[in-house]
Amino acid sequence: MFQNRRYSFEFFPTKTDAGHKKLMTIAKQLASYNPDFFSCTYGAGGSTRNSTMKTVLQLENEIKISTAPHLSCIGDSKANLRSLLTQYKQAGIKRIVALRGDLSLDMSMSSGELCYANDLVSFIRQESGDHFHIEIAAYPEMHPQARNFEDDLKNFIRKANSGANSAITQYFFNTDSYFYFIERILAMGVDIPIVPGIMPITNYNKLARFSKACGAEIPRWICKQLEVYGEDVKSTKAFGEQVISNMCEQLLQGGAPGLHFYTMNLAEPSQAILDSLKRLD
Ligand code: FAD
Repeated sequence: MFQNRRYSFEFFPTKTDAGHKKLMTIAKQLASYNPDFFSCTYGAGGSTRNSTMKTVLQLENEIKISTAPHLSCIGDSKANLRSLLTQYKQAGIKRIVALRGDLSLDMSMSSGELCYANDLVSFIRQESGDHFHIEIAAYPEMHPQARNFEDDLKNFIRKANSGANSAITQYFFNTDSYFYFIERILAMGVDIPIVPGIMPITNYNKLARFSKACGAEIPRWICKQLEVYGEDVKSTKAFGEQVISNMCEQLLQGGAPGLHFYTMNLAEPSQAILDSLKRLD
């Protein structure tokens, strides 16, 4: 099940030195799983420009795992994006996750010159040729701001055809949505690898909040079971581990090209899922 699949772990940059040190310890633990790469998120409008760069370079140079910075274009200028691309290229970074991003309410869009992720992908290709492997985001359950599902599929195709090499999905808990999305995208002539984004379940309230914001559906049977567990962390984790491991097994058996873990800067939940998958191998 593990052969010829790719595995990656996503982190977010931390605000304090202590947080940063802790993150490096977590990354070291996950490095022992020999992932293909780590990735580190970027605050839209450049709000984490320095901390994302610092985290990426440390993961790449000290933990020695190839690391992909996320880069978003909304609310940012071409000059800033160009400067970041140059710095990453000079530092030997080879992969970028290219996104539109979401501005928070207090940010201004006035400095944004690229409106959508497809504009950013074209810009990266224009500025850096084939230097970077470009990952883009995919939404099997539809991006929450899309006009409709068909429109979102067409927008994905445009973005992929702008020069993307592969995609990572928003997380989901329903494998049918992933397989249907792959089928539709293939039928529309795009065959880049689309890797499922995996969100471990560790805390129901947080998960419900995130899912509402990003448009990921939590199936009723999962909600109902998690509601019963409430604040019981141990039962929530055990249930979550079982549900997500089963889902990952179905995805890999159904031909998914790998798995990308939204670690939330924790090692243990992703480790537990990978260990349980390894036991099946
Ligand atoms: P796009 O592909 O530009 O799509 C955005 C919306 O616009 C969609 O509804 C789409 O249908 C529509 N659209 C796309 N192109 C066009 C067009 N040319 N004309 C008209 N409509 C169009 N956010 C961050 O801020 N930082 C991160 O580090 C980050 N990492 C992420 C990693 C992954 C794997 C994923 C799945 C998401 C991540 N996000 C991150 C969230 C992401 O930025 C948001 O979901 C954002 O709202 C959309 O980004 P996108 O790149 O998918 O945008």
